[in-house]
Amino acid sequence: MEISNQFYRDTWVDIDLDAIQHNVQKVKEQIRDGVSLMAVVKANAYGHGYIQVANAALEAGADHLAVAFLDEALFLRKAGITAPILVLGATRPEDVGLASRHQIQLTVYQDQWIEQAASYLNEAAPVLLHLKCDTGMGRLGIKSIKELQDIEQMIERYPSFEIYGVFTHFATADERSQRYADEQLVLFNNLIGHLKKKPKMIHASNSAATLLRQDALFTLVRFGISMYGLSPSDEIAPLIPKWLKPALSLHTRLVHVKRVKKGDKISYGSTYTAIVDEWIGTLPIGYADGWLRKLQGFEVLINGQRAPIVGRVCMDQCMIRLPKDYPLGMKVTLIGEQDGERILIDDVANYLETIHYEVACLIAARVPRVYWQNKKPKYVLNQLI
Ligand SMILES: *Cc1c(COP(=O)(O)O)cnc(C)c1O
Repeated sequence: MEISNQFYRDTWVDIDLDAIQHNVQKVKEQIRDGVSLMAVVKANAYGHGYIQVANAALEAGADHLAVAFLDEALFLRKAGITAPILVLGATRPEDVGLASRHQIQLTVYQDQWIEQAASYLNEAAPVLLHLKCDTGMGRLGIKSIKELQDIEQMIERYPSFEIYGVFTHFATADERSQRYADEQLVLFNNLIGHLKKKPKMIHASNSAATLLRQDALFTLVRFGISMYGLSPSDEIAPLIPKWLKPALSLHTRLVHVKRVKKGDKISYGSTYTAIVDEWIGTLPIGYADGWLRKLQGFEVLINGQRAPIVGRVCMDQCMIRLPKDYPLGMKVTLIGEQDGERILIDDVANYLETIHYEVACLIAARVPRVYWQNKKPKYVLNQLI
């Protein structure tokens, strides 16, 4: 495919679709034959781009998609994606007709939802439902055998609903100690043992459990963060396979370079004072792009070397201290690699005292994405034009 549109600013994200496909293929080799792979593409595919990631994952062997909300599922359908899609979060009962019309699978965990939703349904094709069990995450889900049996019985009364799946979610699968996850698994096995009929899709594992536990694969795994090439946590990074390839990098270019005098101030609040005469570069990226104010003092890569962010990060721009006079237009890497020097998304997350999931999601829609396949730019996504 040709590059479909353009962008007119010197800041962009590169998404390596080859890396995503590699991660999907590798995890498929690792899980048993017959276990389905659900690619989790919620939150704009963790900032990587819904449609491009969904298509790449499906092409590489994923057979289901998952999102958090119905809107996201409808967005995928509008783009022509026909694969099964599960909404993992809550859907309003009054929106069930949309799910039916677009063949979107829904998560349920309350019997009153079934009654309410049924009153909005007059569709012929049944809506496929996944029963969510809360085995210790404390977020959404059925907690007792009685509730599970009640909801199963209630659903049986409505021909417009079909129980297609049952699932749970681990709270601590990304920790070294699997004790709590073990307990969750025992509860889950106990719960599903009390269903009258075993649903086709039984699932529990997120990326961490998929990569670390053979005993929680059931018939499907929900693969999110590691599809993007990232370890679910620092703590288990030494335990997970070495084949993960990160897909995302973030870049910009120098748009201004100046010599400042000792004592000169930089940016809002004048929080930075040049210690000696210095070279300062301006970058066209700021907190509105997801490059947060708290990154003041963090580093970027230029010419294969680290350069500090000086002064406050503004909404659309920030400044760095250069070792010397560099030419305008020189590439600056904020997440990624230059000449063997690397800034990982984990490094950004650690500096922000958060996790890389959050950093990836925060990269704003305003930042264009360039998709690479077979080492060539394949497609540009600029949501502004
Ligand atoms: C987000 C999410 C996942 C994916 O988790 P990762 O840690 O990114 O693999 C799986 N299941 C549910 C219910 C989720 O909300």
